[in-house]
Amino acid sequence: MKVIFKNARFIDPERKLDETGDLLVEEGVIRRIGGTTTEEDANGADVIDREGLIVAPGFFDMHVHLREPGREDAETVQSGLAAAANGGFTGVAYMPNTEPAIDSAEAIALVKEKARGSLTEAFPIAAVSVGRKGEALSPMAELVEAGAVAFSDDGAAVASSALLRRALEYSNMFGVPIVEHCEDPDLAGGAMNEGYFSTIYGLPGVPTVAEDVIVARGVLLAEFTGGAFHVAHVSSKRSIELVRDAKARGIRVTAEITPHHFTLVDEDVKTYDTNYKMNPPLRSREDLEAALEGLKDATIDAIASDHAPHAPEDKEREFIYAPNGVLGLETAVPLALSELVGKKVLSIETTIEKFALGPRRILNLPIPKIAEGEPANLTVIDPAEVWTYDAAKSKSKSRNTPFDKRLFTGKPVAAMNQGKLWRDGEMKTL
Ligand SMILES: [Zn+2]
Repeated sequence: MKVIFKNARFIDPERKLDETGDLLVEEGVIRRIGGTTTEEDANGADVIDREGLIVAPGFFDMHVHLREPGREDAETVQSGLAAAANGGFTGVAYMPNTEPAIDSAEAIALVKEKARGSLTEAFPIAAVSVGRKGEALSPMAELVEAGAVAFSDDGAAVASSALLRRALEYSNMFGVPIVEHCEDPDLAGGAMNEGYFSTIYGLPGVPTVAEDVIVARGVLLAEFTGGAFHVAHVSSKRSIELVRDAKARGIRVTAEITPHHFTLVDEDVKTYDTNYKMNPPLRSREDLEAALEGLKDATIDAIASDHAPHAPEDKEREFIYAPNGVLGLETAVPLALSELVGKKVLSIETTIEKFALGPRRILNLPIPKIAEGEPANLTVIDPAEVWTYDAAKSKSKSRNTPFDKRLFTGKPVAAMNQGKLWRDGEMKTL
């Protein structure tokens, strides 16, 4: 089967490609870039002809919670990967904080089996410690062998400095990073950002220093061990400064940010809607401004959704007792296009880098190329489409999002990978 994108703009930042023309994909392989399609080519092809479409290397979300095994009522591997494709992602890395935790080759094999047949590829981030208990190191060699692309005890920071030191030493031997959920449990424990608004709203606060302390520890141990340390969902100004300084010193530190942290602030908690409760919490306006600077100067390497589905009965509680986390796979790209590209914080090229290149560089995964003869691993976006997100139509099994009914400018309109095309909420095999 053939697919033709007519008059599209192809942007491949890795190869400095930025051209306009037609793109022909046949049997899942890019056959031709540029020029105009002949009638013969167009014969029997699925022609996608929309003005202003941008074709980019497939986007990758390096921070996703799939909830299987354990909470299949909130999300399954299949529903999570459908939401990913619907959001324009051709690859995701999923976190190990399932029940049981992903800390064995068998656990990885189970998810791999469930992911079969999806357009979006799923890469495991395995637990740093057995059962994420923060005691014994997980069997890292076996886990890398089984496909783990990183290690994390996400949901919590690595329990001790000694364990993190050893995790960095071992993971470095296997060439994979440690992805740290930067939160000191002794300093944390609140329900929103600590500051003026937590006082006004009468909610217990989590200070930014709870994050900064663990970022600083990771930076120092990365320097000491030579290992690669990745800051998940960075949210504080001071943490961003620590990452910036570490990079300037040549320490192997990288960072990702979530779309909610560059879009919303602590003040937005005002309605006590639990869809505004996440960890790290929404921070101050000053932190958000620092995040935009960090995205601009490449201190922040990647945008990752921290897609965290929760069943309604769990989220519909008092703010203090509700679990942390919001959906993200279907709103990440629209938020970046609206809030970053639309407001001229980042160019479209740099935004593509944060989605397609940054995450794969951090995880040492091959970057898809827009080139003739290459497998079609592509994300297609319409940066001008104005549309309203309807969470009720989400491909996720959950509905916990603060962005329901939000008006966006810019949308992922198609994705291609593994010989499949996702378009208008449907998957086709090519
Ligand atoms: Zn986390």
